[in-house]
Amino acid sequence: MGKELLNSEDEEITDEDIAERIKDRIKGKKDFEPEDEEILKLNTVRKTLYQLYSERLAQFRRIRDKSTGWFIYYWWGEFDLIEELLLEKKKLIQEKLRDRFHYEKENYFFSCENCEENKIKYTFEEAFELNFRCTECGGQLVAEENEDVLDFLKKRIIQNQNIIFSTKKNKE
Ligand SMILES: [Zn+2]
Repeated sequence: MGKELLNSEDEEITDEDIAERIKDRIKGKKDFEPEDEEILKLNTVRKTLYQLYSERLAQFRRIRDKSTGWFIYYWWGEFDLIEELLLEKKKLIQEKLRDRFHYEKENYFFSCENCEENKIKYTFEEAFELNFRCTECGGQLVAEENEDVLDFLKKRIIQNQNIIFSTKKNKE
């Protein structure tokens, strides 16, 4: 769908045109999958276009056909916004990772020394309330090392920082 919008960048295209073009593109291909049948439906094309529209990746204008009285929708892609949207998402993930990092860093966690599976993590306050006794087996709750978690989060934060988006490559 995105391909058709990009290919028709300099002209106006209706949802019907897009459905037709996808049909032409898929026709005769060896790897024709049953789910491709679904893509061919005009309703599916429209649904996907509205999805792109709600994600701010496509725009349309509509014109009433004088002879039929029906609306004709002309669509175009707004893929320049992708980079902006991805940057927004990156920022959000970065914040979440940092919040989690600080949370892990500032909290001691306790877990049961007997329970092997489905270990429940308790904060200090929770463990204190329970007199440091496991709610499952009555075993002792001991402080947990979370160095591994902190290391993992640190790596993810750096990974996330190093992501560079290039939408130009996708436009080819
Ligand atoms: Zn236990």
